[in-house]
Amino acid sequence: MTITQQDDAPSPQQDTGHTVRPGALYVVATPIGNLGDLSPRAREVLAAVDAIAAEDTRTSGVLLAHCGIQRPLLALHEHNEDRIAADLVRRLQGGASLALISDAGTPLISDPGFALVRAARAAGVPVYAVPGPCAAVAALSVSGLPSDAFVFAGFLPPKPGARRARLEQLGREPRTVIVYESAHRIGEALADLVAVLGPERRVALSRELSKRFEETYSGTAAGLLEWQAADANRSRGEFVLLIEGAQQAADLAEGERVLRLLLRELPASAAARLAAEISGAPRKVLYAAAVRLTGAQPENEDNSGPR
Ligand code: SAM
Repeated sequence: MTITQQDDAPSPQQDTGHTVRPGALYVVATPIGNLGDLSPRAREVLAAVDAIAAEDTRTSGVLLAHCGIQRPLLALHEHNEDRIAADLVRRLQGGASLALISDAGTPLISDPGFALVRAARAAGVPVYAVPGPCAAVAALSVSGLPSDAFVFAGFLPPKPGARRARLEQLGREPRTVIVYESAHRIGEALADLVAVLGPERRVALSRELSKRFEETYSGTAAGLLEWQAADANRSRGEFVLLIEGAQQAADLAEGERVLRLLLRELPASAAARLAAEISGAPRKVLYAAAVRLTGAQPENEDNSGPR
């Protein structure tokens, strides 16, 4: 089915000019907890495609029923994906339009869909994104950790030895690291985090993003352990863990060392600017540290300079 945009009714489809094209695959992001996060375009695409490939047809059935959408559902999960991808590509080549959704968030991000998208692309089938929620990006956006460069590393390994080895490897990564962790293992994972990366490493932990009990800790690894131990609810729900990059951590430690020296002779703003230049640490972060260390009144800092 194709619905073209009407000239007198601008709609969210104005960029693409269509809701769905025959023979195209739509990778549709769905909410990670808050149904209000399903975009109007996601609804329109899901209502318009010939069929929806879903990780768990029961879970997605609830979402679709909530939206009043009735389209045929096909199960596509990690156990059958390789097998049925070729079938689905044949349907697409025959002119059917399909949407791909997972239980929550963006398909393919620690979720099924890669085999289908790869097969569709290999066959020359058009694949369109219907972007939306993703726990990793949502957590990064509220973490207070550098977001200019980051690495998503999926789930940490469940076994302790492999988990510590992975944390050691990720701990050397220069960019901000994002991992998923389940409620069953969050306590052990955080204990390993402190043991492997040390108590001072900056980290963030988001739980229950977009849900009623959403909260995010941002601070040192040792502080995270205390924060989590302070409330039994903080071991429940869904978690995204973020680790500041090794280079960023090293730059910041050096920046703060230089800053303390310069503050003996210079006002906060000049000391922060020079310390940032010397260390490579972000000027704004050092300026905030300078204000904290000296008790100076924050100035209206110019935002146009380097970070
Ligand atoms: N495809 C999803 C996405 O785009 O984020 C991720 C699916 S993965 C199977 C599920 C994991 O994502 C959870 O174990 C948790 O680590 C993270 N996650 C999903 N929803 C979350 C939420 N609302 N708050 C925090 N973490 C969440």
